[in-house]
Amino acid sequence: MRLWKVFLLLLVTTLAVSETAPLKGVEVSDMDRTADPCTDFYQYANGTWRAQNPIPASMTRWSRRWAAGETTKDKLKAILDDAAQDKSAPKGSTGQLIGDFYGACMDDSRVNARGIEPLRPYLERIDAAKDMAALQQAMMQLHDNLVIVPFALSGSQDPHEPTMVMADISANALGLPERDYYLRPEPRFAEARDKYRQHIINMFKLVGWDDAKSSAAAQTVITMETSFAKAALSPTELRDPKATDHKTTFAQLQQMAPHVDWPDYFKHKQLPQDVDLNVQEPRFLEEVERQMQLTSLDDWKIYFKWHLLNQAASYLSDPLVNEDFAFNGKYLGGATEIKPRWKRCVEDTDFLLGEALGQKYVEKYFPPEAKARMQDMVKNLLAAMKDDIVSLPWMSAETKQKALVKLSTFNPKIGYPDKWKDYSSVDVHRDLFFENAMNGRKFLVEDDRSTIGRPVDRGRWGMTPPTSDAYYNPLLNEIVFPAGILQPPAFNMEAVDAVNYGAIGVVIGHEVSHGFDDQGAQYDAKGALSNWWTADDLKKFQARAQCVADQFDNYFIEPGVHHNGKLVKGESIGDLGGVKIAYLAYQKSLEGKPRPADIDGFTPEQQFFIAWGQFRGDATRIEQQRLMMQTDPHPVAKYRVIGPLSNFTEFQKAFQCKADSPMVRSADKRCEVW
Ligand SMILES: [Zn+2]
Repeated sequence: MRLWKVFLLLLVTTLAVSETAPLKGVEVSDMDRTADPCTDFYQYANGTWRAQNPIPASMTRWSRRWAAGETTKDKLKAILDDAAQDKSAPKGSTGQLIGDFYGACMDDSRVNARGIEPLRPYLERIDAAKDMAALQQAMMQLHDNLVIVPFALSGSQDPHEPTMVMADISANALGLPERDYYLRPEPRFAEARDKYRQHIINMFKLVGWDDAKSSAAAQTVITMETSFAKAALSPTELRDPKATDHKTTFAQLQQMAPHVDWPDYFKHKQLPQDVDLNVQEPRFLEEVERQMQLTSLDDWKIYFKWHLLNQAASYLSDPLVNEDFAFNGKYLGGATEIKPRWKRCVEDTDFLLGEALGQKYVEKYFPPEAKARMQDMVKNLLAAMKDDIVSLPWMSAETKQKALVKLSTFNPKIGYPDKWKDYSSVDVHRDLFFENAMNGRKFLVEDDRSTIGRPVDRGRWGMTPPTSDAYYNPLLNEIVFPAGILQPPAFNMEAVDAVNYGAIGVVIGHEVSHGFDDQGAQYDAKGALSNWWTADDLKKFQARAQCVADQFDNYFIEPGVHHNGKLVKGESIGDLGGVKIAYLAYQKSLEGKPRPADIDGFTPEQQFFIAWGQFRGDATRIEQQRLMMQTDPHPVAKYRVIGPLSNFTEFQKAFQCKADSPMVRSADKRCEVW
């Protein structure tokens, strides 16, 4: 950039700042200052907010961040209400698609009047199958509509040839959250099985089956799923990229499960038989084969009908919607009330036509200044990570060099995609909500299938723009921040840097650190699953990662139920690294400037940590916490605050905590990975 341009830019920035109110610090009124920051920092940073803002009946977690996510839905509603009212939008235009989709969803009297009628053709197609070959035809139709059981075939980057997308076959056979729910003897799992059985019975009764037929069907489903569960990997095992890396030829696939008509399946998917192929769980596929031999045609039909019903329930009439919520939302998640219809319709539109809706959202609500400031922060975080890697005492120069190469190829994506998905082929009608949803699901499946066998399109996004979240993709080595998270409390244009570095800064640092967590560290700069570590460094790294797993194994949510350190290891390494490099980046941003003033009696460093405690300050229902223990690689919010900060000496210094405080882990137990 030419010098005069820099000057002009500085001038404009200075003018803008001098005209506005002073930048804000942390939310003092959210804090519980009766709590001791060195004893329970989670309570100290955000306890009053939680006490004054109970979790709404329809939510399972609540914090300023979750509230912001719900406020985003108000904004999306305004966009969708406008689109639904505009009857002049041409067929296939963004306005027509989202307007009619939302309008049809909101027409609950029509949805209720149709009852389960829209589902009938799908059920009849399954019923009509006279043999396994015909049943496979019905299964393929279900797969086209995103009812993907018992296995799924989707596009996935080839971990050995990361410029290409391969066909990836995964296990997807269960109606309960994961295998433990079928196999473990503890009362809470036994109870979940009983509730699930009753739920299946209730659902089949709603399609008109009698008691006996529904009960028998529930038994069939549970028997089949239990066998699948025995053969399936756990969420923890699935986190290991090597455990799911099984490059397979078409001939090998046919040997694994000869009773699946693979030539027909691939033809239906419009894929050549020599397409590069991975089978995530060969043992599971062998179980599919076993069941295809042993399980009767009638039982398979019940299994498919159940999963169709389970997936489609939310697009049908109120009795099915409510029964689906009673089990999945209320029993498993702990929410006591279903979300209002408009909110569910907003979520459905976001799920099925996300980039069409997202395009309208960013036009209206995502200012270019936000993107610029975010780009700046990402740059500073990456620079801090670089300094951090260079200064690591435990890593050899050889491995550091490789880590720096990987870091230099990180690709940040901010706000929204450069190129939007084209949904114009999706058939959407104002009076056909169920069919619209099926067509939207068909689009998602086809959009994914069309990537297989082709070079990777690096412009694709894995989250929609309004999403209040972020991710790292190890194969693309990219960190992605949708517009939806770039608002308070994560990111606040009106807040001081200490607050932004403590919130979105740690989120950025977290995503960067994922590139170097127990999973990400197995991928190289090109996204290939290939070791770039010396044997000695790898051993040291694994020991450091184990320290984090051990720490979280000891965090309980209720007597007898604690985190699974192995499951949350990657996310917790992300948080630990995230806090550190965001802190370093913040300190670096202060270099050569006068020290920022304290605000409300808090030093800049204290503000940084409080901001993290406030951003990550969720109250979480106990049912949701139990579910997370089993399935979620993220720890609950309380431990995402306490866990990393109690390892970090700068935190101890900022609050002058004594060495034996609960928020200070003793030197022999303290974890530091990056
Ligand atoms: Zn993460």
